[in-house]
Amino acid sequence: MSNPYLLLTPGPLSTTSTVKEAMLKDWCTWDHDYKTIVQQIRLQLLEVGRASKEHYTALFMQGSGTFGIESTIGSVIPNDGKLLILRNGAYGKRIEEIAKVLQISYVSLIFDTNTQVDPQAVERTLVEDTSITHVAMVHCETTTGILNPLEAVIDVIKRNNRIAIIDAMSSFGGIPIEVEQLQIDFIISSANKCIQGVPGFSFILCQRNELKKCKGRARSLSLDLYDQWDTMEQDEGKWRFTSPTHVVYAFAQALKELAEEGGVEARHARYCRNQQMVVEGLVQAGFTTYLAREFHSPIITTFLYPVHFPFSFDHFYHDLKSAGYVIYPGKLTDANVFRIGNIGDVHAEDMKKLSEQILRYVGEMKDEN
Ligand SMILES: *Cc1c(COP(=O)(O)O)cnc(C)c1O
Repeated sequence: MSNPYLLLTPGPLSTTSTVKEAMLKDWCTWDHDYKTIVQQIRLQLLEVGRASKEHYTALFMQGSGTFGIESTIGSVIPNDGKLLILRNGAYGKRIEEIAKVLQISYVSLIFDTNTQVDPQAVERTLVEDTSITHVAMVHCETTTGILNPLEAVIDVIKRNNRIAIIDAMSSFGGIPIEVEQLQIDFIISSANKCIQGVPGFSFILCQRNELKKCKGRARSLSLDLYDQWDTMEQDEGKWRFTSPTHVVYAFAQALKELAEEGGVEARHARYCRNQQMVVEGLVQAGFTTYLAREFHSPIITTFLYPVHFPFSFDHFYHDLKSAGYVIYPGKLTDANVFRIGNIGDVHAEDMKKLSEQILRYVGEMKDEN
């Protein structure tokens, strides 16, 4: 069975046929065999994040990535706590929305969408506002593809004795992250991003000591992070409520394939090459990137609408779709942009063909006008 098109979107993304084949059987959610797989992948995730099982633990939450973020924000911050949100894109804004709905006290430090989070500004805020207890930041802001300076920001958070919550949704598994060395307290990602599984759950790596403090703090029953962990620990791999069994098997296969590829470093190298090829190809076709080169992640790239020919995103989108590529619209209110993701089971050859198709498209559009 072949796919109708290649997904050049940051999740769900194109997965291997072996990952999809792993879903062709039915499993019992509380049977020993299944729970063994769950326990195994929890440990594998710690390895991906370079965290020891002595100090860290990994657990799952049903739903998409946002459910994992909401579960963490809602379960970790106590009633008298206050969250600092570092925001330079739509996913940072989503954390604000979560805090608002859950009536968690928060303050935001807002940066332009084409600017990285500034560690010095974070430090000033933490020094000035001693009521802040937790800090949340998006590692790779998928809104633009900007990579925030994780090491420097974590350093500031830890030196100022605050709890760090990182949305590493679109980077974990695709960019090396030293979770334990950095002392990240909570880091969240999901099945359908750089691990290259299918959608259905998010996962959270937690500093054990910090997670243990969260008993009874949750503002939701089904999104109670501590309770989910407690059940997974006590019942050795059992999720509290129906777990996405097929997705879990696909995920186990995806983790196996990540290791076979050579681990996070090798995957990171492939993504970097893909991203570089996309940029080179589009620049050759006359497009410009929204971000300065040094801010780019190897995950997704934002391009400005071209001005050298009359451009319709819709037309462009459908042309590429019929050629076998699905790209992503923009998510900025102040600039006309579109995005091309390069994560998933996509390779240099795909990027080359995509560039050729885009070059052909631009040539045709110019001829017509
Ligand atoms: C994908 C993503 C999310 C989660 O989005 P869902 O649609 O809930 O999966 C959160 N943050 C970032 C940075 C993302 O890329």
